[in-house]
Amino acid sequence: MASLFELPLDNSFVRELPGDPIEENRRRQVRGACWSKVAPTPVAAPALVAHSREVAALLGLAPDALEDPDVVAALAGNRVGDGMAPYAACYGGHQFGNWAGQLGDGRAITLAEAVPRAGERYELQLKGAGPTPYSRTADGRAVLRSSVREFLCSEAMHHLGVPTTRALSLVTTGERVVRDMFYDGHPAPEPGAIVCRVAPTFVRFGNFEIFAARGEHDVLTRLADWTIRTHFPELGEPGPEVYARWLEEIARRTARMVVGWMRVGFVHGVMNTDNMSILGLTIDYGPYGWLEDYDPDWTPNTTDAQGRRYRYGHQPRVAFWNLVRLANALVPLVGEPGPLEAALDAYPDALARGQREMFAQKLGLTEWRPDEDDALAEGLFETLRVVETDMTIFYRKLATLPVALADTTADTTDTTDERLVAPLADAFYAPDAVGAGERARIAGWLRRYLARARQDGLTDAARRARMDAANPKYVLRNYLAQLAIDAAAEGDPSVVRELLDVLRDPYGEQPGKERYAEKRPEWARHRAGCSMLSCSS
Ligand code: AMP
Ligand code: MG
Repeated sequence: MASLFELPLDNSFVRELPGDPIEENRRRQVRGACWSKVAPTPVAAPALVAHSREVAALLGLAPDALEDPDVVAALAGNRVGDGMAPYAACYGGHQFGNWAGQLGDGRAITLAEAVPRAGERYELQLKGAGPTPYSRTADGRAVLRSSVREFLCSEAMHHLGVPTTRALSLVTTGERVVRDMFYDGHPAPEPGAIVCRVAPTFVRFGNFEIFAARGEHDVLTRLADWTIRTHFPELGEPGPEVYARWLEEIARRTARMVVGWMRVGFVHGVMNTDNMSILGLTIDYGPYGWLEDYDPDWTPNTTDAQGRRYRYGHQPRVAFWNLVRLANALVPLVGEPGPLEAALDAYPDALARGQREMFAQKLGLTEWRPDEDDALAEGLFETLRVVETDMTIFYRKLATLPVALADTTADTTDTTDERLVAPLADAFYAPDAVGAGERARIAGWLRRYLARARQDGLTDAARRARMDAANPKYVLRNYLAQLAIDAAAEGDPSVVRELLDVLRDPYGEQPGKERYAEKRPEWARHRAGCSMLSCSS
């Protein structure tokens, strides 16, 4: 158990990959290099808002390590420890469908790679640590609201079992950052903050795309080979065949990640290729959101309101589009597109398999019979839209229905419909406004479902346990994140910490914490930050 300054560190990205010969921290196009050396810009008054004890333990930090002001200073970029070689990475990306050229770490600075145990490597990256050569026209900083959201959601996703980057700490800087939150000509100062993010690597699809786009094929090869040797060693020594198998593995991991998002109702909001992790981790928490009422067309990102490219129901297809961009970038490595095209087939396969498994779990079925169950799932999606229905609460309530209620199959009178639907009332945004016709439609699907569950054979208790392990009770509802932000902005870290604590056990009942499982209150329906978010962060 160590202090941050005693962790075993490495800097393999810097050591093994070509760097930028220019060390001046000036905004520019960086050629032929994977990274630029850059130190964090110190801030006025670092203060710890919260930290994740699980991530601290993962790194081998002592439980009280973050009580040390020098450690907090380092997590704010005010101190660089011995053995750290801070840098910003060069990457490009397709944004909203268009090639955007060089982007890069414009405000994220990696300090070092912690190597606490053999075979484990964790990049420590400060987001909001000041300008870099990749900052373009922006300031290199991050505001408290977006930092609270990234900190909490990274950890929430981890506890939900969805692949994600992690967050060690959230510190405020004591400085103000000016943002035009809605891009409507009203810039205002906001408190600044820095999150220390942690992942085996933050390399994205866009890190490969930039070198392919520029024809810098030797840098592309070196980056691919480093990534495979360091993060996919099980694939063997890099070569044309291994590159194709690597893409296959990335496709499978990406599918697993997206299935996880669909399961818990997460909408990333900005699935640009620079926001797609090469490890298949959820990365770059920006204007993301959680589905409240079930609406596959919903996007939390106001910047995306027109095209809705990144809407909930479109995420599986966008991930594939992004994988195709990555495959194109890898063509120079393989020499021909054929093997990479074949590798991409892993995505639809893994997605279809993953989705069936996911719905079987969500519905508490031990097996998925495509012939009948695909239609059952279709009926479910329709049912969720009969009235405004909270997806998260719906599944938890569905798990409580005994299969014996299916005995009412033949009997479709209004009273039996009522008996069937009543346990779900909490999931409806306007329970009193559900009319008899709507109730009959919902009850019709419930009868089909319960009959199928009975035939599947689990006891009610076993079915519920299976469902509750896949259907979270506690998610980072958009308005809850906003309440934590409001308190933190007033200098009160308690709501951030309490939420972090509740989100540690998303599938548990947690008696006494029910207020964190409630559906969105009416005040939050149209409030900025609760239902509408921009990329401004
Ligand atoms: P994002 O939309 O947050 O994924 O960011 C897209 C690109 O803009 C990345 O290259 C970021 O590093 C950069 N960027 C976003 N915000 C800032 C900022 N405040 N300062 C510098 N670069 C930024
Ligand atoms: Mg990004």
